[in-house]
Parts: sequence; C-alpha cells; structure tokens
Amino acid sequence: MHDRRPLTLYNSLSRQQETFTPLDPDNVRIYSCGPTVYHYAHLGNLRAYVFTDTLSRTITAKGWPLTHVINITDVGHLTSDADAGDDKMEAAARALGQDIWAIARHYTDAFKQNLSDLNIRTPTHMPLATDHVAEMIAWGEQIAAKHCYLLDDGLYFDTTTVQDYGRLAGAVDDAAQGRIETVAGKRHPQDFAIWRTTSPGETRQMEWESPWGRGAPGWHLECSVMAAKYLGAAFDIHTGGIDHREIHHPNEIAQNQAHCGCADTGATFWLHNNFLVDRTGKMSKSSGEFLTLSRLVERGFHPLSYRLMCLQAHYRSELEFSWENLAAAQVRLKRWVYAVEALRTRAAAAGTVMTAYTDQLDAALSDDLATPRALPVLDALLSDKKASAADRLATLAAFDNVLGLDLARLDRGALRVRPIDASIDESAIEARLEERKAARAAKEFARSDSIRDELVEAGVEVMDGDPLGWDWKLPS
Ligand code: AMP
Ligand code: ZN
Repeated sequence: MHDRRPLTLYNSLSRQQETFTPLDPDNVRIYSCGPTVYHYAHLGNLRAYVFTDTLSRTITAKGWPLTHVINITDVGHLTSDADAGDDKMEAAARALGQDIWAIARHYTDAFKQNLSDLNIRTPTHMPLATDHVAEMIAWGEQIAAKHCYLLDDGLYFDTTTVQDYGRLAGAVDDAAQGRIETVAGKRHPQDFAIWRTTSPGETRQMEWESPWGRGAPGWHLECSVMAAKYLGAAFDIHTGGIDHREIHHPNEIAQNQAHCGCADTGATFWLHNNFLVDRTGKMSKSSGEFLTLSRLVERGFHPLSYRLMCLQAHYRSELEFSWENLAAAQVRLKRWVYAVEALRTRAAAAGTVMTAYTDQLDAALSDDLATPRALPVLDALLSDKKASAADRLATLAAFDNVLGLDLARLDRGALRVRPIDASIDESAIEARLEERKAARAAKEFARSDSIRDELVEAGVEVMDGDPLGWDWKLPS
C-alpha cells in the first residue's frame, strides 16, 4: 500500500467517519486501554487487540511511523466501572490467597503470549500502572484544588468543573450507566475517584502513601497519566472497547482537560470496538469457566482462526461467538494456506506486486478498517489463474502485512483440527501418504489400498479427490 489514499476512521467524539491526519506525520501516536490482569483475557478482550493491531498495521502500511502504547492495568479497576465494588486485583488475590504481584505478573505474561499467538505486533510500550503511581499522585495534586473534593474514602473529581463532561458518551442517562450513588457525599452521580483511600479495617496488598491518605489510584487516572507520559498531552488515537465510551473515556477526557486547563480531549480520535458476544454466557470472567485463547487451542483450533473470525466482522459491529463460526473461519484459513502452498511450489522467481489487488485492499482498510471487504479481495487474488504464482505470492505479502494472517508461513499441519486427546503421530501419517501417492503414481493399486486401510484403521480419514486437496483428516 504505497499510495496514500486518505484513511478515514469513525471518531466516537463526532459520531462520524473523519479523515485521519496525523498530528505529526513522522510519529503517529496511539494509546489502547490494556487488560486488567486479575485473570486471563477472554476472547472478547482479545478482539479489542486484534482491532488495534489492524489499526496499527494499516497506519504502518500507509507509511506512517508509529508509537503504540497498550498499558497493563494491575491496580485500581473496580468490579464496576462506575466506582463501585471491590478492586478486581485485590479481590482475585484474596479469593486465591495469593500474592497480588505474582498474580499480576502471571496474567501479564499470559496476555503477552496471547498477543503473540494472535500475531499481534508488540506495542512500543506496555507500561504497568503500578510503575506510575508517583506520576498519578503528581497529576492529582495538580488538579485537586480546582477540580476535586475529598471524601472519607478518597479524592473525587467533580465532573461539573470541566466543560461538556460526557460529550463522548453522548446522551446516556445515569441509570443506564449503572451509576447508582454508592459513595456517600459524592456531589454528582458521574463524579469519580482520582484516589481511593484504604478504609479503616480494610487490608490491601497494594497501597501507597499520598496526600489524601494511604490507598490506591483510580483506574481512570492511570490511562490519562500513562498516555501523557508516553505519547504527550495531545496524541492521535485512543482506543478501547465500546463499554469504555460511556464512563472510562469520558473520565479520562475530564482529567485531561483539568490537567491542561483547556478543552483538549487528549486524543484527537477516540475509536471503540464493539463486543464479541456469547449467547452461552461463557464470556464473563465471573462465569467461572470462560472463553480464553487456550480453551480454543485445547479444542483443536488455531489462534489465527480466531483472528480471521474477528476480521470477518467490521470492528464496530457486534460479533457473535460460536464454535461453528470459528470452525468455518478455520476452514477458510486452511483453504488459503493450501492455495498458498500450491503457489509456492510453482513460483520459480520473485514476482511483482499486482497493484490492482493492493489498491482494493487499501480502499477497504482506508474506509474505517473495513476488513470484511478486504477478505474477498484475497480470495480473488489467490484464485486468479491469469496471474503467475510468483506475482500472486508477491502480492500476498501486502495482505499478510495488514491482515496479520501469516499465510505465507502458516503450515497446513498447524491448521488440522485435532481432538484434545489426539496422540497421533502426524508426520508418520504424512510419510505414509507420500508412499501411497508414489504407489498410485506407479499404478500399484493394491499397495495404495493397503496403506489407506491401515490409515483408516488408525482413525485417519483419507480424502481422495477432495477439491481442496485435504489429503487426510482426523475424526472430529
Ligand atoms: P479489561 O481487561 O476488562 O480492562 O478489558 C480490556 C479491553 O477489552 C477493553 O478495551 C474492553 O473494553 C474490551 N472488552 C471487554 N469485553 C469485551 C468484549 N466482550 N468484546 C470486545 N471487547 C471487550
Ligand atoms: Zn484506559
């Protein structure tokens, strides 16, 4: 994608698709709200990062250098986004009877592994909230006199002290946001904690001294502070799930405005991905058994099948999770990998990128990251019999670059759906199939049949004449 067709993105601030112009064309700056590391990320959380990865890959493909931050929320996120309930991290540590720092480390590592399994590029910075408490306190001190008030349980932000509070959320009534006034003394239902003081009798594993007593920072403050530290007070794009449009992000904006003493919102563009929904109710972490990437792998799926499933929907549409959808995505991915393998065996020399295809890819992504429109272009490219194998492979690289499906490297074996307890030696099967192919080529049909019978005996289904060329499959 060498050409610079304008990139348009749907900005939640204006509720419109706007042309994206970087503040600094030599450094596009993006901040994505990161995971709260009290448990494994569920598949819905991971959809948020497949989306940000598509965004960053598109920005990079358009030739703009990028700084991308995904923070790690290891303190401060309460069970309700609206300042009610327990700190998620503390509650998890208490329930497990474990050291909170060890829990944070464990789930942070697991999250990084998820990103890598989904072929999500490592962001430039992944700051931990707990490493920035001093800066949060300093921010609080700077805005306290004009914008905050002190209650027994902490320092609260008065949302009427900034202009246009909640503009990002739009007209949402307080009840819909679940802002029941749980904190005595709060001046307005929307007011939120900048700092939460540990109450007498409460024990916290993570707490710090502050001018407002021992305690912990509010969740919203973390993101304002880390975004400003790594990206500057004004940066290009802030992302998060659609749930953040109502509370977390309006609160960040309010803090940013209080801090700069101006109307600036921090980021110019606020982008929100819609939810992955699961009608079986297994998405929520509180449901006990919930959908994680490792659960999907245990069921025999490849993580990139989930990535493809995400790309098949526009990021602003709700996406329903089902094992059937995932299986269909895996079949589609497998079809492409087989096609690419066939091209590879035929491509003798390096090919030339076919701009007719990359231009369509660019057109789709430039239109608010319309990935569902980019995928049929890939279908067309792979099945374009008029183009040489080498040219098709060269063009494929542009698709891998922005879609991150790794088609040029994926191995067909990795895409075989395996039952969880499969203890089958797949390379031995491949070797036997090669022998069978040779036997058939030599017209030794008795030998070919006996190899097939032997494989059937071992539970392997040999698929002759399958147009996709799936030589064999395991029973599913
Ligand atoms: P959390 O770990 O809860 O702080 O969330 C991490 C990211 O996942 C945030 O950007 C959330 O808005 C987003 N998110 C949470 N649930 C879902 C879901 N079901 N589908 C898509 N994104 C989600
Ligand atoms: Zn955030």
